[in-house]
Amino acid sequence: MGYRVLVVDDQKGVRRLLEELFKKEGYEVNVAVDGRDSIEKVKANTPDIVLMDMKMPNMNGLEASEEIIKYDRNIPIIMMTAYGEMEIVQKALEVGVKKYITKPFDIIDLRNLVREVLEQNTVE
Ligand SMILES: [Mg+2]
Repeated sequence: MGYRVLVVDDQKGVRRLLEELFKKEGYEVNVAVDGRDSIEKVKANTPDIVLMDMKMPNMNGLEASEEIIKYDRNIPIIMMTAYGEMEIVQKALEVGVKKYITKPFDIIDLRNLVREVLEQNTVE
């Protein structure tokens, strides 16, 4: 169960919440503060899954996801979006983002989604 999870969000509160949630799951958690940082963290410590916020300074979640997929298309990405961002969600799915979840989300739903994606990826 030593999955490595990368949490990418510009809001400290969200990073803390998700870090705590996934540590409880027994995962190793790394965090990134924006899109650019997320690419460095992916290269430094190949995660098994990336949770990617959409709206961030420097580089947004869509651009960062494209870069990460170019670097390694086997790393699944879950996008965290706000309501009314369906156009961006559509683009994200087109470039290869696996799943998305709409903020504000229930952390149990996110936990289950992450489990599901990790298990699928392990079987494949
Ligand atoms: Mg944000």
